[in-house]
Amino acid sequence: MPRSFLLIILTVACLAPWARAEAVANLKIVTTTGMIKDLVTNVAGDRAEVSCIMKEGVDPHMYQPTAADVRRVLAADLVFANGLHLEGRMTEVFEKSRNIGKQVVVISDEVPVDRLLDSAEYPGQHDPHIWHDVNAWATGIPVVVEALVMIDPAGEAHYKANARIYAERLAALDGYVTWVMGSVPKDQRVLITAHDAFSYFGKAYAIEVRGVQGITTESEAGINDINQLVDFIVEKRISAVFIESSVSERNVQALIEGASSRGQEVKVGGILYSDSMGAAGTWEGTYEGMIEHNVNVISSSLGGSVPEGGFRGARNLANEGT
Ligand SMILES: [Zn+2]
Repeated sequence: MPRSFLLIILTVACLAPWARAEAVANLKIVTTTGMIKDLVTNVAGDRAEVSCIMKEGVDPHMYQPTAADVRRVLAADLVFANGLHLEGRMTEVFEKSRNIGKQVVVISDEVPVDRLLDSAEYPGQHDPHIWHDVNAWATGIPVVVEALVMIDPAGEAHYKANARIYAERLAALDGYVTWVMGSVPKDQRVLITAHDAFSYFGKAYAIEVRGVQGITTESEAGINDINQLVDFIVEKRISAVFIESSVSERNVQALIEGASSRGQEVKVGGILYSDSMGAAGTWEGTYEGMIEHNVNVISSSLGGSVPEGGFRGARNLANEGT
């Protein structure tokens, strides 16, 4: 072999130690929610094919896995779930998977306990909606790296490099959310939605949150829940309430009618992505886009401001309804 040729090979090999193994990894990874799919995809890059079970608009609390989902979970190299009872009806599938020696990685397992919020409804349990606190969600990045390296050690440098980039982007997103939410006037800092999905958001970005339904969407809201929230809306002179893309808007409409009958006009501030991202292939179909959409909609409906270009210049004005 000519010496110069050999030198080229050695140089390429040294410059990109992970590139050589790129084509051979081809891991099959299944996640429960779209938010986890996005997180894993950003770390795994092209060494894995990542798919999620719950598509856009699907309510994870109520999702019943199909026979095809069970087959996909059992055939995957690795499965990622949120945990904290978010995927309440998938427990059995995860058990089956563990029984055949497959690992089910639970993202919330590694979130520091002091970052977790208690569930007011289910004593002793934590609230599962951690993705609405961007910094808390970012604690899932090293969990993904560790799990991937375990089954694909050759990809370690690749995963770590991707993880660094994604962590920087999420830190920037957290800064954006903090700035935009900080612009909402003090007396407007109340977020009323269809169910209690935004407690982490409320705590991280200083806004009071109320949901018509509780932490899961499993139990129906009663007339008392609606009336109490109507009292609150009238008393606090709240001007906007929010629909969620994965929950029926019926209860939110009942709030608006209840408040209106007592002389308080309330508008729908917009549709928020609470437990499910937007359509695949759109900016809202990514975690960053989902969070940006929510914060822009909340801030502009409650008298705050939003930078014209939004976060990373990808703002989708038409979908925000502005
Ligand atoms: Zn929820």
